[in-house]
Amino acid sequence: MNHDYDLLRRLSETDGIPGREEAVRALIRDALGGLAADARVDAMGNLIVELDGPADAPLVMVSAHMDEIGFVVRHVDDKGFLRLQNHGGFDVRNLFARHVRVHTRHGGPRLGVLNPGVKPVHIATPEDRKKVPTLDEFVVDLGLPAETVRAEVRIGDMVTLVQPFVDLGDVVSGKAMDDRSGCWVLVETLRRLTAPAVRVAAVFSTQEEVGLRGAITSAFAVQPDVGVALDTTLAVDTPGTPEHLAVTRLGEGVAIKVRDSSTISQAWLVDALADLAVAEGIAHQFEVLPLGGTDAGAIQRSRGGVASVTLSNPSRYVHTVVEMLAKRDLEAAVALLTAFLSTAGAASPPKA
Ligand SMILES: [Zn+2]
Repeated sequence: MNHDYDLLRRLSETDGIPGREEAVRALIRDALGGLAADARVDAMGNLIVELDGPADAPLVMVSAHMDEIGFVVRHVDDKGFLRLQNHGGFDVRNLFARHVRVHTRHGGPRLGVLNPGVKPVHIATPEDRKKVPTLDEFVVDLGLPAETVRAEVRIGDMVTLVQPFVDLGDVVSGKAMDDRSGCWVLVETLRRLTAPAVRVAAVFSTQEEVGLRGAITSAFAVQPDVGVALDTTLAVDTPGTPEHLAVTRLGEGVAIKVRDSSTISQAWLVDALADLAVAEGIAHQFEVLPLGGTDAGAIQRSRGGVASVTLSNPSRYVHTVVEMLAKRDLEAAVALLTAFLSTAGAASPPKA
């Protein structure tokens, strides 16, 4: 079965900030076709797809978040310029000179320009040039008369960054690969999962970027025995960063997470995934991330505790609109997750 990179393109180019994942959810539902026949959507907007397996087998919740970092409109000024509230962590240095889409309820989406209110180089003083503006100083310019803006734009409207997805051959690059690439791995795995050895609850979760909120409630509802989060991680194997801070390397395979600041993966799950990867010849690497979290952090601490791990897609330029991932790593993630869910005993803790 060929890997569906056109689906990855559509996932990347679809817009959905925390709490506004509806277009992404509709796309995933459509991509799953008959597999989503019995899918349900809960009050938080999580899309939950359950697959039967042997009745006495463990229930594995696999979670990938649908939301991307973005903004809502916080203020419209007298001239029609918009100020923004971020939903999720941005580095403002990545926000200069960007096109954005303002999603209005009645007027439809409107394109605009995002830039800080600072002087162009021609009239800036040396002091002006040293300042890094805060997010508060960035404005959206819709290029419309103020009265048109005020009539169409409402406080709270979603604002997303605009960036076409590009396929560069061995790698792909685009916006929202965190975590549409995880959603893609989950869809591609469900399409290949002919004989699951476990019971599976696939959760396309919401509001991860503001604190794992969709995973908190879905883990409570699903009541899994084991949790697997699918997300991106840092691949800082680029000039300017010492080798020991790279975390992962692009193209060296799916990353099996040992720890981040939300979870310490159960050691037996790390070992089980590593053993499977070796047995199946799947490219893999291990990840120790100093700071950051995934849905595994919510699943692991649900109820009385759930053994959890994360499979990560290494990504260069994380939380920018040019996030770069290697096809080899993405395909390794699909292969390893498919093997994990298809192998009897892989999701069961070793006997004490
Ligand atoms: Zn993420």
